[in-house]
Amino acid sequence: MLCLGIETSCDETAVALCDDGRPVAEKLASQIDVHALFGGVVPELASREHLRRMGPLLRALFTETGLGLADVDALAVARGPGLLGSLLIGLATAKALALGAGKPLIGVDHLHAHLMAAAIGRDVPYPALGLLVSGGHTQIMLLRSALDIAVLGRTLDDAAGEAFDKAAKSLNLPYPGGVYIDALGRDIEAERGLFPRPFLDNRNLDFSFSGLKTAVATYVAAHSELRLDVMPSPGGPIDPLDWPMAMRKVCAALNFAIADTLRVKMERALDARDTGPVRALLAAGGVAANSRIREMLTDLTARRGLPLFLPQPKLCADNATMIAATGCLLGRAGLTHGLDLDAVPRGRKVPWDYRTGPSLG
Ligand code: ATP
Ligand code: MG
Ligand code: FE
Repeated sequence: MLCLGIETSCDETAVALCDDGRPVAEKLASQIDVHALFGGVVPELASREHLRRMGPLLRALFTETGLGLADVDALAVARGPGLLGSLLIGLATAKALALGAGKPLIGVDHLHAHLMAAAIGRDVPYPALGLLVSGGHTQIMLLRSALDIAVLGRTLDDAAGEAFDKAAKSLNLPYPGGVYIDALGRDIEAERGLFPRPFLDNRNLDFSFSGLKTAVATYVAAHSELRLDVMPSPGGPIDPLDWPMAMRKVCAALNFAIADTLRVKMERALDARDTGPVRALLAAGGVAANSRIREMLTDLTARRGLPLFLPQPKLCADNATMIAATGCLLGRAGLTHGLDLDAVPRGRKVPWDYRTGPSLG
């Protein structure tokens, strides 16, 4: 089954083709340059950019592959969670193509797709434990199968990605700052007690990262040598040696605090009786590109004797390949939608079900 995937949930406009779950091609336009000026995503600008870029990206995808709409068996689109105006651009595009070509439409949960990016090209043994760490979500999930998923724990406030981005902002690093914190903190010993590992003193699987953001901001405010006067221009290569050691130490300590908080809750989930024995561990989302977190997960799964499924770094962040691959999975299971498919901008805390539409958020 050849599936066209469309992703417009936030600030990446992307279209991709997957054939029976295998990536064929992708065209992606990032809007980081548009939003970096404002230090975060401006929803109205995001929708306009999606609209502007969608047509050219689709044409480029078909030109490059020599394929056309007639070759496509289904249209898959991210239906949420995400920004409502942005999601609607993707949905309207997918519906128009589905209607025009007489092909089935498949609404894909963006968070499900993030997780499935870890399974692309590989056979995951289920049940598996999933860690979703992205810009807007931090969740521990139980995947009884690829299509039967429950949320075991979630953040009560900020996501891990927000903690990275807001800490980066207090250091005057460009948006989104996670990739800077990762790179600057690499290859130096982290001072473990510098920042708290938040919300561990309980028995649950939930997270709370908002205090960590404040801890970093307070520390930076008290150490004037840490704040850059001139913000580097975003997008360029990052060489840690170009940066003051004091700043790199803050980044290393933050990478550790976040990675180790995730580790403790994942260990707790693995030990929980109602999780039952799992046969694999999956991690996905933009923050799963973080090298300290990837090391932590590699070490954790080695100790537990479990296989680890991580997407390649470029499939951690938002992309349409993950939407197309998940579309193949749903299409094969006969899960399609009508043209009344809705956007689901925010998660609803009800059991997850493709037909009725609630999301994993
Ligand atoms: P959601 O999927 O929850 O709706 P999103 O799509 O905006 O949110 P992603 O694109 O999956 O989120 O991830 C973006 C986040 O990942 C940003 O917060 C960014 O800083 C963070 N990030 C990207 N690379 C790294 C890295 N190497 N280390 C830490 N954080 C990173
Ligand atoms: Mg993004
Ligand atoms: Fe995302």
